[in-house]
Amino acid sequence: MKYQRPKGTNDILPGESEKWQFVEETARLLFKDYQFDEIRTPLFEHIEVISRSVGDTSDIVTKEMYDFYDKGDRHITLRPEGTAPIVRSFVENKLYGPEFPKPYKVYYTGPMFRYERPQKGRLRQFHQIGVECFGSKNPATDVEIMAMALAFFEQLGISDLRLVINTLGDSETRVSYRQALIEYLTPFEEQLSADSKRRLHENPLRVLDSKDKKDKEIVANAPQILDYLTTESKTHFETVTAMLDTLGIVYEVDSNMVRGLDYYTHTIFEIMHDSDALGTQSTICAGGRYDNLIEEFGGESTPGFGFGIGIERVLLTLDSEGIELPTIDTIDAYVVHLGDETNVEALKLVQAIRNAGFSADRDYMGRKAKAQFKSADKAKARLVVTIGDSELAEQQVKIKNMATRVEATYPLAKIYDEFATVYDEMITKGE
Ligand code: ATP
Ligand code: MG
Repeated sequence: MKYQRPKGTNDILPGESEKWQFVEETARLLFKDYQFDEIRTPLFEHIEVISRSVGDTSDIVTKEMYDFYDKGDRHITLRPEGTAPIVRSFVENKLYGPEFPKPYKVYYTGPMFRYERPQKGRLRQFHQIGVECFGSKNPATDVEIMAMALAFFEQLGISDLRLVINTLGDSETRVSYRQALIEYLTPFEEQLSADSKRRLHENPLRVLDSKDKKDKEIVANAPQILDYLTTESKTHFETVTAMLDTLGIVYEVDSNMVRGLDYYTHTIFEIMHDSDALGTQSTICAGGRYDNLIEEFGGESTPGFGFGIGIERVLLTLDSEGIELPTIDTIDAYVVHLGDETNVEALKLVQAIRNAGFSADRDYMGRKAKAQFKSADKAKARLVVTIGDSELAEQQVKIKNMATRVEATYPLAKIYDEFATVYDEMITKGE
């Protein structure tokens, strides 16, 4: 019997995993500069955590959940996104209390699960890096966090990005806009796609998000949310755009952008990369403000802002732009040992080198000298340490600098006692 990984999942193999580490490390360092600390929540949650916040009519809740009943008959789901679980944690741990910093800023990275139709850049287990900021209503928070997302992509060397923003206003805005949309869309009801017909009654804002061609034509002339903003919502959005201008950040306003999750208020944004590599999956980062969500979870009223970045889509983008990430692919020393008698000494040598804080490898397969040197080359070893029967008898090793081809002989004892000195001497030799 041959087993295969479940549909929509990937094995991240060596060679690829280094890229993941680099992307994650870039995020960690950058986010730390912005004073975000890491939070780790469970991979599964009680289903209500997701269903009550993401929205009953959202794609995630209606068709994408990996949910099941556990042996204690609890209705559980693998987490489809990061925000709701973190808000649950924020409220459960009372992180809004006076002893905690305000705003309270966290980031996360890890797998998310959605039962989707797998395609390029769309998986059933995919991975996100995201941030959440709790407690600031200040539009500067919206702008800094969008700027941080852009800085992340810039640090990875990705260009050709588009920042697209919109506002969903406050609750009052959405009540009046919803009414206006229903009035506009109802005469077109029969021409709408089946999905949009349903959404017209459940959540008309979602119709704006339709990918259907005919729906798009109808929606093109729909009333715009920007005309329904309350004074407060309008001020917030205008301040956000003015601040983006101040920082010289280029953006587009797409008044039909609504995002797939119900919890957003005010500013929402997406960062897109238009390349063939991603096809229609061009959004690599998405997020926005959610000022009512913490209260809905039973916490003290606290505004929030966050985003999620799809790591797989970032890696596809890096590939499509031909960007090579700087991964470590050299080792400090390779031990070539000749003959069975030297097997134990080779063991002692690699361990001594590693214990001195250097990276080392050796031959385990009893290969001939030439093959071992080939392995050393392949491993991009900077030094090769050779021990054969005669060296062993004389208690010494030969060391070769693979770049300069300079060779020298050292007493074994010196390798064991002061490898760092030997390493420095050999690396500088012949330069
Ligand atoms: P889409 O419209 O592509 O389905 P979404 O609106 O469902 O995206 P969000 O829930 O906002 O996406 O998630 C944020 C980011 O996570 C997306 O912009 C994308 O980069 C990534 N993402 C979402 N779903 C998947 C998936 N199934 N596979 C891979 N990446 C994903
Ligand atoms: Mg989706």
